[in-house]
Amino acid sequence: MLVRDDLCTGCGLCQPYCPVGAITVGDVAVIDQDRCVECAICHRSGICPVDALELHWLTWPRLVRALFSDPLLAHPGTGVLGRGTEEMKTNDVTGRFRPGQVGVGIELGRPGMGTSFRDVEVMATRLAALGVGFEPDNPVTQLMVDGAGHLRPDVLGERALSAIIEFTVPQDRLPQVLAAVREAGALIETVFSLDVIVPDPGRHAEEVARLCREAGFPVRPNGKTNVGLGHRRAAWAGGPGGAGSGTGGGAGGAAAGRGTGTGPVGGEEGTR
Ligand code: SF4
Ligand code: SF4
Repeated sequence: MLVRDDLCTGCGLCQPYCPVGAITVGDVAVIDQDRCVECAICHRSGICPVDALELHWLTWPRLVRALFSDPLLAHPGTGVLGRGTEEMKTNDVTGRFRPGQVGVGIELGRPGMGTSFRDVEVMATRLAALGVGFEPDNPVTQLMVDGAGHLRPDVLGERALSAIIEFTVPQDRLPQVLAAVREAGALIETVFSLDVIVPDPGRHAEEVARLCREAGFPVRPNGKTNVGLGHRRAAWAGGPGGAGSGTGGGAGGAAAGRGTGTGPVGGEEGTR
C-alpha cells in the first residue's frame, strides 16, 4: 500500500485500520513497507477523505503478502479466500483427519503483528523432521520446496497477517509434536495459536486434551461441524461416529511466541 504525499493531509484517520501497525502519521501518513502485509484493509475501509491511499501492482514475491492477508483475494492454489484453507471445518465432507489420527493446525501471526515466512519455516522444518503429513491443499504446504519443510527462498523475507500450517499425525505421536511446537515457538518472533483436531470427539477428545495440558498448552474445547449440509465421503461411512454427525472436536490450545510472515504458490505477478 502506498500513500500519495501530494494528497495526504496527515489527519490520521487511516491509522487505526491497519492490523499490523504499519501506518505512522506525521505531516503525512507513512507506511512501513516491511510491516505492511498488503491486506488492503486501510484502502477498503474508505476512511481516507482525500483518497490518498493507493493500491499498487504487486509482483512476486511481494504478492505473497496479499495472497495470505487480503480476505477478499482468492489463493490460486486452493481457490479459498484469504489465507486460503478450509481447515477442519469441512472435515465431515473431506475426511482429511481420520480416526486414529489427530489433525493439527498452527496459525502464526495475528493479532497486531503478523508473521514472517522465515518464522513459518522455523515451525515447519521442526515438524517435518517428525514426519508429519502436511495438508497438500494448503497455501503454506504449497510453498514448501522439499520434504524437510523448507519454503521457497524468495518468500522468506516476506510477511503476512497470518499463515496456517496444517498436518495430520498418529495420535500416539502427538506428544512429540507438541514438544516440537513448544521448542519452535521459543525461536520465532510472532504469536501463534494451536488447534488439535479430533475427528471422533467421543472417543479421543479427552485423551487429546490431557496430552495438550501435559505439554503445557491451555485447552479450550471447540466444536466444528457442517451441521449436515455436506455428504460424508464413502470412506467414512463405516467409521466411528455414525453417519451425518460431526467433525472435529478440537482441543484448542493457545501459545505465545514473538515474531513475523508467509507466502503463496507461484504466480509470479499479480495485482488487485
Ligand atoms: S495494506 Fe494492510 S498492512 Fe498495509 S498499511 Fe494498509 S492496513 Fe496496514
Ligand atoms: S486518512 Fe488519508 S489523509 Fe488521513 S492520514 Fe491517512 S492517508 Fe493521509
